[in-house]
Amino acid sequence: MNTHSNKDVLDVALIGGGIMSATLGVLLKLLEPKLRIAIYERLNTVAQESSAAWNNAGTGHSGFCELNYTPEKTDGTIDISKALKVAEEFEISKQFWSYLIQQGFAKADDFIHSTPHMSLVHGEKDIAYLQKRHDALIKNALFENMQFSDDTQKLMEWIPLIMENRLPGEKLAATKMDAGSDVNFEELTKTLFRWLAAQPDVELHLSHEVRDIDKEDDGTWYLEIKDLKNNSRKNTIADFVFIGAGGMAVRLLEKTDIDEGEGYGGFPVSGQWLICKNKSLIEKHHAKVYGKADVGSPPMSVPHLDTRIINGQKCLLFGPYAGFSTKFLKHGSYLDLPESLTSHNILPILSAGMHNMDLTKYLIEQVMLTPEERMESLKQFIPDVHIEDWELAYAGQRVQIIKKDGKSGGLLEFGTEVISNKEATVAALLGASPGASTSVYIMLDVLNKCFAEKMKSMQWQSKLREMIPTYGQSLSSNPQLARTTRKKSADILGLKV
Ligand SMILES: Cc1cc2nc3c(=O)[nH]c(=O)nc-3n(C[C@H](O)[C@H](O)[C@H](O)COP(=O)(O)OP(=O)(O)OC[C@H]3O[C@@H](n4cnc5c(N)ncnc54)[C@H](O)[C@@H]3O)c2cc1C
Repeated sequence: MNTHSNKDVLDVALIGGGIMSATLGVLLKLLEPKLRIAIYERLNTVAQESSAAWNNAGTGHSGFCELNYTPEKTDGTIDISKALKVAEEFEISKQFWSYLIQQGFAKADDFIHSTPHMSLVHGEKDIAYLQKRHDALIKNALFENMQFSDDTQKLMEWIPLIMENRLPGEKLAATKMDAGSDVNFEELTKTLFRWLAAQPDVELHLSHEVRDIDKEDDGTWYLEIKDLKNNSRKNTIADFVFIGAGGMAVRLLEKTDIDEGEGYGGFPVSGQWLICKNKSLIEKHHAKVYGKADVGSPPMSVPHLDTRIINGQKCLLFGPYAGFSTKFLKHGSYLDLPESLTSHNILPILSAGMHNMDLTKYLIEQVMLTPEERMESLKQFIPDVHIEDWELAYAGQRVQIIKKDGKSGGLLEFGTEVISNKEATVAALLGASPGASTSVYIMLDVLNKCFAEKMKSMQWQSKLREMIPTYGQSLSSNPQLARTTRKKSADILGLKV
């Protein structure tokens, strides 16, 4: 991409003030310092939707504890490919964040903390699965330090809050990875935007909502923007647009009218947490403990009991409980879903709905839960649970991707996908999993798709290797590199290996 000669045309417009736009903006400004960048955020502060600290679980997803990343195959062996992929992607994030710390942009203690990642199962069948999963994973250097135990004494040492008040003879087992982390993505996002907004030729516009995106005859993009504070309309023109609008990205993608965006729709799933108010319980637990999802439940509803460190304070949350709302953003409108329906996506959406009745049933059941019923799933983790120690809070809104599919009409997906046009002048990020943890990897994907020539240039290649030393190399197939890379990042970020 050439820096535009017309002063009124931006090189890059970033829509949305979440972790994704922040990461892309910082990457671009470091790679090409002369770029003219503007960021538009509809709320009056950045990082208040999914990237807000209490709107997500803050798990630095590495494939250590998420059992849905390691399904059992029909032959009884464990498929570890997704866990390896996520572990590699998180190592990329950690390298980039380490670079930012070394450059003095950020302080590790403000946003990342060492927190063991554990998986917990009940009963012989699941214990056999967990043992097999452990045996398969420890063969790879990225997981070699994973510990397994079904010994009550050991488990008591690891997770006293969970092990107290168990019935005699209850069978439990867990794995533990000390290399796990808790990340405050809100603080990280704010840090990234603080640096970005202080750079020359960067404008951060808060309370500015992008209402429309149209392609001009010369290939640039015309953005129609509402200044919500002054109740006025504005517009701008940009060579490249990134739609990092979280749940709203699917609606804005529709507005670009690019062929590649046709047939996409969104299915919103809201979340709720129980937040612990009892200090002695909070102090007794120090881990992110993931259980197994119920049959028929979506992958993002895996229950977990999580230590969080938010603004220097230790906290404890349990959840998420799924729910349904037609909003695409927590601060959105109930009309978001109905207004997203077009002649291109109505069939895929209806078809995905019909093929996912289990999910619909699950969501209805979750919405109908009484406070006492909600306690039942927490009881699996803390047998002697008291309702008055916990308070219900709303998490962020996730919008799952629905896309056209030749065979079934419409597919519901739980991952993330970057959609861009063939001219590579607009890209949108849809979906929310594994999410913020892998933001650096996902934004490198945007750069590879939309700045392909620049990404091959000597200048960008050498800068990329300065920021992410293992850029372009596989860690899962290079044990020595995996060990030295994890150790180096751990030393800078204050984590364990
Ligand atoms: C319940 C829950 C738990 C999660 N747990 C984890 C976890 O443990 N670990 C993890 O890595 N990830 C987790 N995630 C996912 C993670 O939070 C998201 O992937 C990530 O925050 C998405 O960042 P984003 O920048 O794309 O979107 P967001 O942070 O949602 O930001 C989008 C921004 O765009 C703005 N916007 C929208 N429309 C417009 C418009 N028209 N004009 C201007 N601005 C607009 C919004 O106001 C918002 O600020 C979780 C998500 C949820 C909901």
